[in-house]
Amino acid sequence: MALVTKSTTLLESPIEYLKGVGSLRADALKKELNIHTFKDLLYFYPFRYVDRTRIYKIKEVNAEMPFIQICGKITHVEITGPKRQQRMMVDFADDTGRIELIWFQGITWVSKNLRPNVEYIVFGKPSVFRGILTISHPSMEEMTPENLEMVKGLQPVYSSTETLKSKSLDSTGIMKLERTLLSKLEDEIKETMPTYMLEKLRLMPRKEALKNIHLPSSIEKLNQARFRLKFEELFYMQLRLLRNKSEREVTIKGFVFSKVDKYVNDFYRSYLPFPLTKAQKRVIREIRTDMGSGKQMNRLLQGDVGSGKTLVALLCMLIALDNGFQCCMMAPTEILATQHFATLKEFVKDMPVNVKLITGSTKESERKILHEELENGTLQIIVGTHALIEDRVKFKNLGLVVIDEQHRFGVNQRARLWAKSELPPHILVMTATPIPRTLAMTLYCDLDVSVIDEMPPGRIPIKTMHKFDTKRSEVFSFIKKELEKGRQAYVIYPFIEESENSDIENLIHGYEEIQKAFPGNTIGMMHGRMKFADREKTMKAFAANQIQILVATTVIEVGVNVPNASIILIESAQKFGLSQLHQLRGRVGRSVHQSYCILMTPHERGADARARINSMVATNDGFEISEEDLRLRGPGDMMGTQQSGILDLKIANLAKDSTILRQVRIIASEILNEDKNLGLEKHRLLAEQLKQMDKERGDWSRIS
Ligand code: ADP
Ligand code: MG
Repeated sequence: MALVTKSTTLLESPIEYLKGVGSLRADALKKELNIHTFKDLLYFYPFRYVDRTRIYKIKEVNAEMPFIQICGKITHVEITGPKRQQRMMVDFADDTGRIELIWFQGITWVSKNLRPNVEYIVFGKPSVFRGILTISHPSMEEMTPENLEMVKGLQPVYSSTETLKSKSLDSTGIMKLERTLLSKLEDEIKETMPTYMLEKLRLMPRKEALKNIHLPSSIEKLNQARFRLKFEELFYMQLRLLRNKSEREVTIKGFVFSKVDKYVNDFYRSYLPFPLTKAQKRVIREIRTDMGSGKQMNRLLQGDVGSGKTLVALLCMLIALDNGFQCCMMAPTEILATQHFATLKEFVKDMPVNVKLITGSTKESERKILHEELENGTLQIIVGTHALIEDRVKFKNLGLVVIDEQHRFGVNQRARLWAKSELPPHILVMTATPIPRTLAMTLYCDLDVSVIDEMPPGRIPIKTMHKFDTKRSEVFSFIKKELEKGRQAYVIYPFIEESENSDIENLIHGYEEIQKAFPGNTIGMMHGRMKFADREKTMKAFAANQIQILVATTVIEVGVNVPNASIILIESAQKFGLSQLHQLRGRVGRSVHQSYCILMTPHERGADARARINSMVATNDGFEISEEDLRLRGPGDMMGTQQSGILDLKIANLAKDSTILRQVRIIASEILNEDKNLGLEKHRLLAEQLKQMDKERGDWSRIS
């Protein structure tokens, strides 16, 4: 027992206890890199490596070379310039020539530490500055046998920050800490993969891998170490997901919705405004089967913008009603909740279904009635925002929860809905942000997924164009023609949190410009800082065509439905993410009219922005877009993955390591097929490891 405690505590030791850290550096490590313990430092991997296998003679060096290292002595130091624009020039020489080392920052610290007549190893990128061969901001080590040993070979490069650098924790400083740490942890790094797997898969042992990831002894060892650590990371992620899935299947009972009755049949016969698409029918069948199975449904409904998810949700809710249950539908914003409410009301028309809305701005007097009706069961469908999750909202018998745009809700918030009934309600999560197939397969392998992969008939594909902002007047005349045909337009400005004020200025400037250019039309403006009531008023006026052009930020991004709007102009499109552009585009193309999406950018835009715009122009398919988004950004930034902590990956990359991913999936499912509870002796380590992960991360795998 004592031994076990000791070994866990050493890895958990606060970082200030490591030799060479101390409280000042510890504070910086915590703040800047989120490194709090020995373990955090151990798992802080280099982001790249440089080859320092060779020491060059100064006469061999030229400005075209990449990072190189030389060895010699300081012959002269000179500091010039006024305080804030100081620079320090150092003459540095070996027996073949001389070179200049130059610093523009951190001069006080560097000058204090450099000594004449000491031999240094200098590492940096040579360039020509004022006609002289120079290395600026090199890293320098005293030439001692230990240091030579340390810097020789492949050098890890760690990310650092200005604050850390000022405490001499640049990449080299961090490398030294890793070195100290590794020698201290010599006996503490335990193997996490069973021996039989190490042998069968020829994986490098964990201790060796961690050593080589920080201090590679050769390229080959580094590659093996990387493979081993990626493999482990992805393997446990998959094993855990698959285990959770099989556990859920056996343990979680749900309400049985056995029949389809009056509500569904009446609606189908007399109120359905158009025939369902094949995909809608299939998805409804899948959901119905789930809700009748006796297990709790946990289903993700994916369908591109405009594919008709709301109608599917309504039919599912009517099934719940037919079985005597209540439903709720949650939306991330008041605008969306209000809109869903209106849509549902419109669908059910004069059917005897009690549908109501609850949001942050619902009056207390109304709320009282809502609460009563929910508790006595007379309120059948409630649509709302986060207001639904409050503790004082109680249901008589909540049977189905529909969540729209799930990425806006945190896992904890959703879990709170659980507490609201005896058995967990069935959960249907709708998302219009298609998750790439590769990612969905990984993240949601314990969820069931339904896909609406077909658009309602008669839709004309949206035409997407890219225009430079020098062509604005041309674009404006194009919009004018659409308005003359009776259509409406959105003009979207980016809205980035950190630069809020300048973004608002841009928006207002754009609004004024458009007012001037379209004197005959009513122009509306909307952004997230406006009061909800004002936003809603503007939105209503736009929906009623009292406003023809709506100048807005991304507050209109999801769900807003004004079919008569046929054109969306996105200003500074280079600033938007791909999924976001696709969402915005989905605001048009909602009727029989040809719709247009115009992406406006300056001539100068980065390579990634170019790629995003190109794929928007090339395809309307949300799945293709999301695959491209994954490729461009990596999965860490994908919607829905941030809050979940699912992608807490330190070294593997879901987009790039798909080969390993496929391999670990197969292995993980073979293991569980053979030994579902991981009770076999050879799997003991796996079971322990999963237990540890559960403890550390909580169960994020479920959506409800
Ligand atoms: P989503 O929420 O999936 O983006 P919506 O549910 O808002 O899409 O549907 C988009 C539009 O298509 C709505 O105006 C809706 O009434 C209409 N719609 C839905 N299903 C069909 C269908 N089967 N045939 C024709 N129109 C449909
Ligand atoms: Mg919708």
